[in-house]
Amino acid sequence: MARFVYADNAATTPVAKEVVEAMLPCLTEHWGNPSSLYGKGQEAASLLSAARASVAKSLGCKPEEIYFTSGGSESDNWAIKGAMHHAKKGRNTLITSKIEHHAVLRTCETLEKEGYRVIYLDVDEYGVVDLRQLRSVIDETTALVAVMYANNEIGTIQPIAEIAEIAHANGALMFTDAVQAVGHEPIDLSTLGVDLLALSGHKFNAPKGVGALYVGRGVKIGSYIDGGGQERRRRGGTENLASIVGLAKALELAVARLPERDMIRQKRDRLMNELLKIPYSRLNGHPTERLAGNLNIGFEFIEGESMILWLDMAGICASTGSACSSDSLDPSHVLLATGVPHEKAHGSLRLSISHETTDEDIDYILETLPPIVERLREMSPLYETVKK
Ligand SMILES: *Cc1c(COP(=O)(O)O)cnc(C)c1O
Repeated sequence: MARFVYADNAATTPVAKEVVEAMLPCLTEHWGNPSSLYGKGQEAASLLSAARASVAKSLGCKPEEIYFTSGGSESDNWAIKGAMHHAKKGRNTLITSKIEHHAVLRTCETLEKEGYRVIYLDVDEYGVVDLRQLRSVIDETTALVAVMYANNEIGTIQPIAEIAEIAHANGALMFTDAVQAVGHEPIDLSTLGVDLLALSGHKFNAPKGVGALYVGRGVKIGSYIDGGGQERRRRGGTENLASIVGLAKALELAVARLPERDMIRQKRDRLMNELLKIPYSRLNGHPTERLAGNLNIGFEFIEGESMILWLDMAGICASTGSACSSDSLDPSHVLLATGVPHEKAHGSLRLSISHETTDEDIDYILETLPPIVERLREMSPLYETVKK
């Protein structure tokens, strides 16, 4: 089988050719330490500051509000732990949602063990956080509201500006894990109203292991790694210059490509409409307020894992939902939070397409997937009973 279709862009993306080209000189020529005072170091320092300025421009903030990190997980940890540890006296509550990425949920668990109170907001059947519940639980003890911009499994986009307004009206800070949204949704920090925002390079065609945290002016989160004076003394460690330069380049390209979102959405919708014709299938997530490239469909009577393996044999990369939970057999916490019952949460398939996905790729998935669903169902005793 010669065909290869990558439909798991929510897990990671290939590094763009232009990004590799921007990175290479940092490895071969400009390999100096940006903290060194001589010319070789200062070359690197100016590449670093150009990258910071570029990321700031792409997001609508100031360069001094951007901190480079090792990725989304570190940015999530720093933002949340930092904001809680540096909260004003009497503010010891964190409000988040039940459908956050594990980098956020496990951070919240750690804070609970430290004695902080964490409130996990419910979501509706589409995965949208309950704003009425937020308004009713938020109070003068709330230090931080942490709600993701877009969900990595079902693609649902949250009303972040509105949530930030509610947080601020109650004197709390607002953090958003925008790892799935940056480079894929238009984001303007000058109007969005959040205090902290996390992003990760490998979700928009930069390498893995590099990310950033936006920290609005005056927002106190302390330092994350004690060490040298890098990242304005808040995150020690010699900068990962090549990857940072790659991240800035990838973000520039992704932002310039945002108008192509409509084309991605059209391809996704064709895929969605055709796959939903399969009996006993349902769309997970919001019908319209979702990432353009994300499709998540539940197929009853089959295991998502079997579908993934069969698709792989046909050259198609897809996922059951979250790459991080693929080592456990627990159903997705995101689907459970949207009210999908346990037994149905197992049969979900996430297809996440990109600007590189062609109409032929969609055709191939549409030729390949329905027979796989049919054959897997034929092996299911439950399906036999239902058919009769
Ligand atoms: C991928 C992802 C992360 C983790 O980012 P890494 O760079 O892989 O650490 C965090 N949050 C969301 C929503 C993600 O999709």
